[in-house]
Amino acid sequence: MPELCATEGLTDIQRDILAAVRVFVDEQILPVATELEHADEYPAEIVEQMKKLGIFGLTIPEEFGGLGESLLTYALVVEEISRGWMSVSGIINTHFIVAYLLLQHGTEEQKRRYLPRMATGDLRGAFSMSEPELGSDVSAIKTSATPRDGGYRISGQKMWVTNGGSANLVAVLVRTPEGSDKPHRNLTTFLVEKEPGFGEVAQGITIPGKIEKMGYKGVDTTELLFDGHEISADRILGGVPGRGFYQMMDGVEVGRVNVAARAVGVATRAFELGISYAQQRRTFGKKIADHQAILFRLAEMGTKVEAAHQMVVRAARIKDAGNRNDLEAGMAKYLASEYCRDVVEESFRIHGGYGFAKEFEIERLYREAPMLLIGEGTADIQRMIIGRRLLEDYALPG
Ligand SMILES: Cc1cc2nc3c(=O)[nH]c(=O)nc-3n(C[C@H](O)[C@H](O)[C@H](O)COP(=O)(O)OP(=O)(O)OC[C@H]3O[C@@H](n4cnc5c(N)ncnc54)[C@H](O)[C@@H]3O)c2cc1C
Repeated sequence: MPELCATEGLTDIQRDILAAVRVFVDEQILPVATELEHADEYPAEIVEQMKKLGIFGLTIPEEFGGLGESLLTYALVVEEISRGWMSVSGIINTHFIVAYLLLQHGTEEQKRRYLPRMATGDLRGAFSMSEPELGSDVSAIKTSATPRDGGYRISGQKMWVTNGGSANLVAVLVRTPEGSDKPHRNLTTFLVEKEPGFGEVAQGITIPGKIEKMGYKGVDTTELLFDGHEISADRILGGVPGRGFYQMMDGVEVGRVNVAARAVGVATRAFELGISYAQQRRTFGKKIADHQAILFRLAEMGTKVEAAHQMVVRAARIKDAGNRNDLEAGMAKYLASEYCRDVVEESFRIHGGYGFAKEFEIERLYREAPMLLIGEGTADIQRMIIGRRLLEDYALPG
């Protein structure tokens, strides 16, 4: 929809990338998305095409074989891809976060070891903080790494690892004995290598299988079980234990821009479907778009899509300029995911009974939108971040 979600001030390269991705989405994702989603089938061919388009290396610097593009370019690409099928954006999101973590916090050796293969998509990233008993409260992590023979042994249970089956490099946050007793100071990120697939995928690592989900199908989300996995100390992200919490929070901050961008993509598609259907369906002698109730719905949907897009762009540009963007990323994620749920709901209503039929795309979007209210920090957690930052900025003197 060129009329909505325009972005001022893009470079020619950014415009070319977005145009190519839009064609890819229209020709190769949209026609197969709903069928693959209903079958919960991994989109292997789409992934191969994304490798050729360079999407896995979009933000990886050219010296490591990537395209060296900004967070803004990435976010706009994610909007386009999610307009086609949100699960495909899930396949690149954890990969993008791991590449970001390596770039920002990795040692030179770690960057050289992983980034060139990540840029081609041969090495695929996942990240793992959540456990069965915690998601929001990251400081309560129980999975631990115990020093042994100059390295570590990891034991514990991780949960909700997106791309847990298909990835071969997982950034895992665990507890280590070094550092102070404060939970935020004794968490460490390990770069864990494993084979793709399920079952025993490395010494002391098992991926039991896919978690069955209500939506966001096609992409695998798994448990990750560690039972004495031996890992050398040079696989600690950045080489120093105890920095994991801050590294992961930095990664999640860019992840929030990504989830907000996904929400814009899904909402855009719901809007497109709704406005198209409203001009075709007739009741009481006229198109339903000519009933004011439907017209107002369309107006509200378009306004929400546009507002969410502008917040994504602003949050990405602040980060690209080298500034802290936790407030703007939190606001964008919070607002875009809530708006996405609203827009999808309104589009569903516009479809009448057909919205309930699996044959209609809106049925899939209806099951996808709720995930955005949860992933990369729930709406409540975003409101906590936003509220605390506002109190900092607006603190009364004295
Ligand atoms: C499909 C899917 C994919 C995922 N992928 C990944 C992944 O790749 N890697 C990963 O590490 N995790 C992943 N997650 C986990 C996700 O990040 C967590 O589910 C999320 O952070 C919420 O944690 P929780 O489920 O433990 O809920 P809880 O933290 O138990 O929260 C339960 C409820 O309490 C509320 N709540 C919690 N604390 C507070 C508070 N202080 N104040 C007010 N309300 C509060 C929450 O908002 C929520 O409504 C994924 C989850 C899903 C569903």
